[in-house]
Amino acid sequence: MLPDVADPSRLGFRIDALASGSQARAATFRTLHGEVETPLFMPVGTQAAVKAQTAQTLQDSGTQILLANTYHLLLRPGAEVFRRMGGIHRFMSWPRSVLTDSGGYQIFSLPHAREMTEEGAVFQSYVDKRSVLLSPELSIETQVAIASDIMMALDQCVAATTDHVAAHAAADLTHRWAARSLLARRDSPQALFAIVQGALFPDLRRASVDCLAAMPFDGYAIGGLAVGEGLSERQDMCELTAERMPRDKPRYLMGVGTPLDILEAVHRGLDLFDCSIPTLVAKRGGAFTSRGFLQLRRGVHELADASLDPACDCTTCRLYSRSYLHHLTKIQETLGWQLLGQHNLYFYHRLMREIRQAILADAFLSFYREKRALFQESDVDNPTRPPRVRRARPLALGQYEVHVAAEGFASIRHIASREIMHACTPPMDEALHLYVEQAQVAERLRLAASEEAATAETLVIWDVGLGAAANAMAAIRCYEAQAAAHPVRGLHIVSFENDLDALRLAFRNDHLFPYLRHAAPASLLSSGAWQSSAHPGLGWHLVQGDFFATLSQATPRPDLIFYDLFSAETHADAWKLSSFRLLFAACGDKGVELFTYTASTAGRVALLGAGFYVAKGCSTDDKPESTIAFTHEALERGTARRHELLGAVWLARWKRSGAKFPIDLPVHEQAAFEQAILQHDQFRGL
Ligand SMILES: [Zn+2]
Repeated sequence: MLPDVADPSRLGFRIDALASGSQARAATFRTLHGEVETPLFMPVGTQAAVKAQTAQTLQDSGTQILLANTYHLLLRPGAEVFRRMGGIHRFMSWPRSVLTDSGGYQIFSLPHAREMTEEGAVFQSYVDKRSVLLSPELSIETQVAIASDIMMALDQCVAATTDHVAAHAAADLTHRWAARSLLARRDSPQALFAIVQGALFPDLRRASVDCLAAMPFDGYAIGGLAVGEGLSERQDMCELTAERMPRDKPRYLMGVGTPLDILEAVHRGLDLFDCSIPTLVAKRGGAFTSRGFLQLRRGVHELADASLDPACDCTTCRLYSRSYLHHLTKIQETLGWQLLGQHNLYFYHRLMREIRQAILADAFLSFYREKRALFQESDVDNPTRPPRVRRARPLALGQYEVHVAAEGFASIRHIASREIMHACTPPMDEALHLYVEQAQVAERLRLAASEEAATAETLVIWDVGLGAAANAMAAIRCYEAQAAAHPVRGLHIVSFENDLDALRLAFRNDHLFPYLRHAAPASLLSSGAWQSSAHPGLGWHLVQGDFFATLSQATPRPDLIFYDLFSAETHADAWKLSSFRLLFAACGDKGVELFTYTASTAGRVALLGAGFYVAKGCSTDDKPESTIAFTHEALERGTARRHELLGAVWLARWKRSGAKFPIDLPVHEQAAFEQAILQHDQFRGL
């Protein structure tokens, strides 16, 4: 039996209104730093900092509670700093409330070795490599030192795909840790929430909420969602858990989500939310507005004098034009990240206030229906295609399924290998960054003053691995934006793909893949080709079949190659020396530049061995470098001179590498191959 340690009035939670025809509710409670009103969104300040925001901009945006993370703060700066500095509020100059997550979710997402025992979670510190045992007691002790207003009990989070036996064991362990957390809090005035687990099993979720609700916590959270499950699975779990959560305590859905996700969860009876999306998408030039989701990097904003959101009165919207914000995102200026982040947070907080007003006025259901439609729109001022009638949309097709990342964006996953196309960034962001911008497609399309469109050479892109067409669509959008503002040469894209199911699946779910709302993919899927009606110079065709069997016959020959096939584990042929030799031969005497996401030694050396020059490519969200390869003619013509060739440092590392040779190189050819690499033109003189 547990002693009755929780003061039932720690938060003084009271319901202000319940919505008709919905589970939505508006409530008020009081933390150690003031009264807060729900439904409420909490910005994520994992390491006692919300990215690119100050305490002042957070207050201006309407933030009432900030989320910080015990796991990170325990490792750096450490509990002692908080004790000496008088707690997190004084430390970061934040006068309002703070909620600290316990660290369970971070340990679950650790890439390094971790071990779960009855005592706690053992993991290796990323700061100083020492082994740390994070027990429920240490988590509470640290949160007491941090001096947050609301603490979370340590939980064991498991993947959405975990089987019933393992999920059951993790939920039971979470319950025992919850009881120990309550005991460890002693007489601290800080509130403490428990976290419901149970993966995607309704019986486990119900048992978990019932077990925790019997203990005297100040609030309850739904954990273990937004970890790789589908959207409808998440909503089902959220609904059946919320139904059984105590009505007289705050209900918190952890790590969720987009404005639409939050609206759906409020409708299902949740009160509190946290997510890094507002600042994360701001970093990538994205903004949530009353006119739909805007990507400020799009060329359509270059000359837009309008404010970011005509319905918003935040500092960003009052002072700056879309044109200026577009410019800041194009030059990757931190100020753009800050300004868009400030607006996005303001947008979230205002949405929460509007939701609350609608509940208080008992008009939530109509508000929900109206906003639900808006949140599925992207950029209504610059539409690319009218929205189509919705029909049933399967989330898997052939070898592929739709994957929705924790940040809320969708990608296509290869079921057998679990490999995700564009895993860490929204597909369109990666397509722009890694392929279209690095290849300088916009600059290449613009005609010099002396050139005439009718006689200028058409730019040809080989899009190797069509996938869900993100790279091809990024190039098409780039052309359309350039053609609207400048005289341009023609663009022809040749896409290579043997299995069109990935594109078909994404196309059927174009609410999750809004970049496909365009005439081009529909035409490519139905007839294998597309010719723009607005731009006679813009065309796209498909070569279906195995790339290496079709490439020697494919025309026209490329200027640029976007090489985006699955990795060597899934598609070994794509990274072989013999394959790159075929590709090199197909380049003929053209100045060709190839861009690819990998920086693997075996892939790079196979490109070198085939005759390409090889350079460092830009970083991506999950890798510090990608790769660029090009022909000697590209160097001669000057277009490739801006790339940073692999040099002595890479060569020295290659000599020591265990993955030194292309995977298909016979052992007896290795010595000769090594000599050929050392004598490669790009290493001459090293
Ligand atoms: Zn604004």
